[in-house]
Amino acid sequence: MKNYKNILLTTDFGEESSPINERAVQLAKEQGAKLNLIHVAEYLYSYSYMAAVVSEAEIQKQLLEETKTQLAKLGEKLNVPPEQQYACVGTPKHEIIEKAKEIGTDLIVVGSHGRHGISLLLGSTSNAILHHAPCDVLCVRLKA
Ligand code: AMP
Repeated sequence: MKNYKNILLTTDFGEESSPINERAVQLAKEQGAKLNLIHVAEYLYSYSYMAAVVSEAEIQKQLLEETKTQLAKLGEKLNVPPEQQYACVGTPKHEIIEKAKEIGTDLIVVGSHGRHGISLLLGSTSNAILHHAPCDVLCVRLKA
């Protein structure tokens, strides 16, 4: 198997994420690879109603802060240092691909389905990543 050097673990912080996280940590250890962590907070259409009272920039700032806090907790658990944690706001598939290119990832780890996925099918994020990734993708199969 190819020796991976720079792994990007994607997380939606879902309850079923443990097997995905464990696989990425194990693989990084075995391969002596750097492990990076990414979560993309989605700017939902419904937030635009809030924009009447709070500016869009402020909503985005809050989303980023919340994401950083959640990533810090998970990073501590998985032993991923802060400089390898990426908090983004936007469309998950797009931000993940862009970050993978930016940091020269050679393996992206995703779950077969997450919050956007319907049981048994490949979720929309994992499907898009498989199609557009600039590198290999490990899709960890989750029970339906
Ligand atoms: P989905 O295709 O959205 O059902 O999710 C499949 C997998 O994509 C999840 O198990 C995560 O690995 C990844 N993923 C989904 N949403 C996000 C997100 N907002 N940020 C980072 N990774 C995500």
